[in-house]
Amino acid sequence: MMFDSHVHSKFSPDADQSADISNIAVCAKEIGLSYVTVTDHCDCNFFLPEGEFDYPEYQKQDSMMFGARDYATASIKKCAELKDRYPELLCGVELGQPLQNPQASDIITSMKELDFIIGSLHMNDNKPDFYWIEYKKIDISVIRALLDSYFDEILQMAASADFDVLGHLTYPLRYIEGECGLNIDMLRYDEIIRDIFRTLIENGRGIEINTSGYRQKFGRPFPDEEYLKLYRSLGGEIITIGSDAHKTRDIGAGVDWGEQLLRHCGFKYVTLFKERKPYQFRL
Ligand SMILES: [Zn+2]
Ligand SMILES: [Zn+2]
Repeated sequence: MMFDSHVHSKFSPDADQSADISNIAVCAKEIGLSYVTVTDHCDCNFFLPEGEFDYPEYQKQDSMMFGARDYATASIKKCAELKDRYPELLCGVELGQPLQNPQASDIITSMKELDFIIGSLHMNDNKPDFYWIEYKKIDISVIRALLDSYFDEILQMAASADFDVLGHLTYPLRYIEGECGLNIDMLRYDEIIRDIFRTLIENGRGIEINTSGYRQKFGRPFPDEEYLKLYRSLGGEIITIGSDAHKTRDIGAGVDWGEQLLRHCGFKYVTLFKERKPYQFRL
């Protein structure tokens, strides 16, 4: 059994706009996946009341994420509708920055159609997405401060936001290390990452292996093997695997490597969420 629990369709503004949910289901079946979960973006801080478009200045460069409300709800409704026709299809969402707009988060998380919620942090409060920051032009102390705030907010999310697994724990490294080639001493974050894992485990939540890093400059999954081993050693069992595909040809990419890595790190099971409940499948 192989699952891809993190896939974007055309209802994510940064995804290939020809990636229909029905194509995703067909493609998943063709490559032999037992399940594929569509998890389009809902970046909660872009989720304004209906009819309001007065975004703060710092968000304007992320103009493609405008309309988070419409995109996310349309994706969830469409996916739920197609589930009857495609038995391998599951309905999820990638909920970004839930604590930066708790009302938006509540609206999405209360949708009964959802099988699965990934909780992600793509940008610190009042800051642009980590994707946009020009790390080579800023001092290392500023990068450290950004990462300090990032992990602080992740810890708060682990404690209080409503989601099933934490998305790509080391997301900022995709850009800081992968794209800009800057090496960050991650030892500084060992303690807080340990706290994040403990908190997730206590609250019945899990993490994901996000295999997108394998096909990007970063070259490794998010998070790295050492963190997967740490999570396991602390008693973590809930773990999903997702390609984070933004085009249909990336569906399932690296999922087999993710499974191998899980075994190597001592996991016996991989998790799949259905109706927001974790199901464990023997590796
Ligand atoms: Zn993400
Ligand atoms: Zn994603």
